[in-house]
Amino acid sequence: MNTPPPTPPSTAHLSLPFFDDAHRELAQGLVPWAAAQDVDEHDDRAACRDWVRRLGGGGWLRYCVPAAFGGALEQLDSRALVLLRETLAYHSPLADFAFAMQGLGSGAITLAGSASQQAAWLPGVADGSRIAAFALSEPEAGSDVGAMAMRAEATPDGWRLNGTKTWISNGGIADFYCVFAKTDPAGGTRGITAFIVDAGSPGLDSSAHIHVMAPHPLATLQFDGCNVPREAQLGELNGGFKLAMRTLDIFRASVAAAALGMARRALAEAVAHAHRRRMFGHTLGDFQLTQAKLGDMAAMVDAAALLTYRAAWMRDEAVRNGRALGADYTAAAAMAKMAATENAQRVIDMALQLHGGLGVQVGTKVESLYRDIRSLRIYEGATEVQQLIIGKSVLRG
Ligand SMILES: Cc1cc2nc3c(=O)[nH]c(=O)nc-3n(C[C@H](O)[C@H](O)[C@H](O)COP(=O)(O)OP(=O)(O)OC[C@H]3O[C@@H](n4cnc5c(N)ncnc54)[C@H](O)[C@@H]3O)c2cc1C
Repeated sequence: MNTPPPTPPSTAHLSLPFFDDAHRELAQGLVPWAAAQDVDEHDDRAACRDWVRRLGGGGWLRYCVPAAFGGALEQLDSRALVLLRETLAYHSPLADFAFAMQGLGSGAITLAGSASQQAAWLPGVADGSRIAAFALSEPEAGSDVGAMAMRAEATPDGWRLNGTKTWISNGGIADFYCVFAKTDPAGGTRGITAFIVDAGSPGLDSSAHIHVMAPHPLATLQFDGCNVPREAQLGELNGGFKLAMRTLDIFRASVAAAALGMARRALAEAVAHAHRRRMFGHTLGDFQLTQAKLGDMAAMVDAAALLTYRAAWMRDEAVRNGRALGADYTAAAAMAKMAATENAQRVIDMALQLHGGLGVQVGTKVESLYRDIRSLRIYEGATEVQQLIIGKSVLRG
């Protein structure tokens, strides 16, 4: 829900050594901008379009693409993405979603697109005139990406796509999809290639809207003999799995940041309610049980913040020094994603409990946060997937 917060988000964390002055300036402009937006979020598709337009107009989507194609910075900066997502999610999880999908949906083009593909698609992502989407999951291939069944077969002029993608964010409102399909069915994860598919391509049906518990435009995409030109191939033939993982790697710490923004908001709502609500001749906040809960919540928020900022900083440092991202980063990003999303769920649940009956009343902020947070523990690698990544890394030493 896009309702005004009881207090603006604290910016104390900006003084941490993970951030530099450019990040502080970014936050200084973003915090009042986000607080001033008022979007009707009853219709998820209309609201998402509205948010993309506003985020483009505000210049914030420029952080989703490199400077050469209308972006704000030479290359994508994880700490900027983290600050943007945390702040947007504090105000509106849907605003955060609209922002994130522009980055995730175009990330593979930034990483592996040809100069002409980048010039054709990225400037529209940066100014909000084109909506992007990332189509990897299928009904029988979610966590197990290698089980993907969608096929891309070479034709004399290009490629013919057949199959189904599901749970596709921005499905039905996107202008283009980065689609992953099998080009070598026997090759497992080494037989997948990425393609850029214009939303208007004949043979692509994106009309199956999926309704979920929190506002989030989602659809199932049906590809039925959908012909795309040869130039639609994105990156190397059979290199699509690696490309998808590299794209998700950039944004994994930013999912943690979105959860962090929601948790910070829940804590702010809980503190305001604890000061306001009177019972037994006192305020709710006067009771030690309340103070203990708030103490737990604040520690969980800070733990998530430090893990999130560390992962973003590690990625930016590797990029700055021209180093490939190593296993240490993969484990740090997995820890951030797991801890921030799981902690946020607990913090939001505790905030809801402190609100009593009001906490479950449709329309209150903690009620909508309770629904908003849930899917973050599932997408871009469920918690169990992150546990396995971290566990294997620990065993390797
Ligand atoms: C709101 C939302 C938005 C999404 N947006 C997109 C999008 O834009 N593009 C896209 O391609 N996909 C998207 N997805 C799909 C998402 O990536 C998948 O839902 C996710 O990968 C899990 O796949 P699945 O739903 O098929 O669950 P499954 O793979 O069937 O997993 C079910 C559960 O099994 C558990 N599990 C997973 N692996 C293991 C394991 N190794 N050991 C033990 N337990 C395990 C986890 O608890 C998991 O939740 C979105 C999903 C949601 C809910």
